[in-house]
Amino acid sequence: MSRPLTATIDLSALRHNYALARRLHGGKVLAILKANGYGHGAVRCAEALAGIADGFGVAAIEEAIQLREAGVQGPILLLEGWFEPAELALIERYELWTALHSLEQIDDIEAAELTRPLTVWVKIDSGMHRLGLAPADFRQAHARLLASGKVGRIVAMTHFSRADELDCATTPQQHACFVETLADLPVETSLCNSGGILGWPALHGDWGRAGVMLYGGTAADRLLPDWPRPVMNFDSRIIAVRELAAGEPIGYGGGFVTERPTRVGVVACGYADGYPRVAPAGTPVLIDGQRGRLIGRVSMDMLTVDLNDHPAAGVGTPVRLWGEDLPACEVAAAAGTIDYELFCNVKRAAFVYHD
Ligand SMILES: *Cc1c(COP(=O)(O)O)cnc(C)c1O
Repeated sequence: MSRPLTATIDLSALRHNYALARRLHGGKVLAILKANGYGHGAVRCAEALAGIADGFGVAAIEEAIQLREAGVQGPILLLEGWFEPAELALIERYELWTALHSLEQIDDIEAAELTRPLTVWVKIDSGMHRLGLAPADFRQAHARLLASGKVGRIVAMTHFSRADELDCATTPQQHACFVETLADLPVETSLCNSGGILGWPALHGDWGRAGVMLYGGTAADRLLPDWPRPVMNFDSRIIAVRELAAGEPIGYGGGFVTERPTRVGVVACGYADGYPRVAPAGTPVLIDGQRGRLIGRVSMDMLTVDLNDHPAAGVGTPVRLWGEDLPACEVAAAAGTIDYELFCNVKRAAFVYHD
């Protein structure tokens, strides 16, 4: 028997969520597969979306090459562009699309020897203040790219910093800045991540960029009849049971002490698998489908749960860490983080894919 920790990936839910993103956004939508498909397996997710997705987005050329070498066709956008000019040759060779976020990168394009026109997504900093051209530089950048003779297609892109907050003026302000910056220039546009797609229907451009919503993550506090479905079930089992008297500490540090006689289940999942070590006592789990709670400190390979309200549970009982009936965002909230981070951190589990 092998260690029972499993990440079961529902590829039909992924396709459902992609179709939902496309329907809500209109136009075209890139499926964002960076960070190994937010921990779900980028190649398998790309294959599941082949012929359905308008294109894919990744953070780095290594991720793009991995997809190409696995046979993935269609547009793949490097969301952060290139990190050194030598990558431009690979961008051409693997027929990738690339973001451009600085004027220096236009020098790189002008200096590059290319045989095919590039597709460049020019990133404009409309208020996130991370990557992107200052709005005042966009016209000049656009003109230089066209004049270089090396760029065949330009998409203007921006990224919202607070699209998941629906009662916040920042997103409309960023949108207005972006629209003003483009003025009458005839370029395609891309503004929305998942939060924008779900929460800001009036601010969609030509291309959406759907990430966490593809995986059933939360991205806006809005309830839709057709909410994204969870894609990952992160499941393990109880591997041992302890009967403790009141007043007994559990696990490293002894920070949790039983208040009453307690049956404790030891579960094969720990922070080395991506479960957040900082998750406090009370963090929800599903014990054979019933809500239960974490107690004691999460260790590298194991965590402990309270079985007092689960008399039928014993060695072998399934425990869901997150997934259907236990959204990862709930676990994340208890641990002071977001579901994005939980998904990205999953490792060492056996990955099982269902169509
Ligand atoms: C990661 C990323 C996205 C996807 O964001 P989600 O919130 O996961 O939908 C979109 N655009 C850019 C530029 C990104 O880096």
